[in-house]
Amino acid sequence: MSTDATADPECIFCKIVAGEIPADIVHQSPTTIAFRDLEPQAPTHVLVIPRSHYPDAAALAQGEPETAAHLFDAAREIAGAEGLGNGYRMVLNTGADAHQTVFHAHLHVLGGRSMGWPPG
Ligand code: 5GP
Ligand code: ZN
Repeated sequence: MSTDATADPECIFCKIVAGEIPADIVHQSPTTIAFRDLEPQAPTHVLVIPRSHYPDAAALAQGEPETAAHLFDAAREIAGAEGLGNGYRMVLNTGADAHQTVFHAHLHVLGGRSMGWPPG
């Protein structure tokens, strides 16, 4: 089990968790926080993140598996609050080839329009 979950002073999402930079927060739990993406790709585009710093979802699942589950539960609550009864997409970009650009684990919750597949 990884326990490398110390806040990273260089990490933009750790700064949001600490309240050091602003974010449009839509949901919070003891282990997670969720806020609207700065560059929304759908009418609803929320990022759900663990309060602890893990570089990606795989590391989070290894280090704090219960918190990984909390991300999905937060997404369910957010989807309800945002009226996404027709469905929503959850995305976990993991690594550079997957277009991960912020290396603090985060779950994208996208909805409010129909989505295409493959994702590109
Ligand atoms: P990734 O490409 O790593 O899967 O997703 C990172 C996401 O974080 C992007 O969709 C990007 O728009 C968003 N993002 C990056 N910096 C900030 C920020 O400072 N605030 C917010 N709300 N979103 C951010
Ligand atoms: Zn971080």
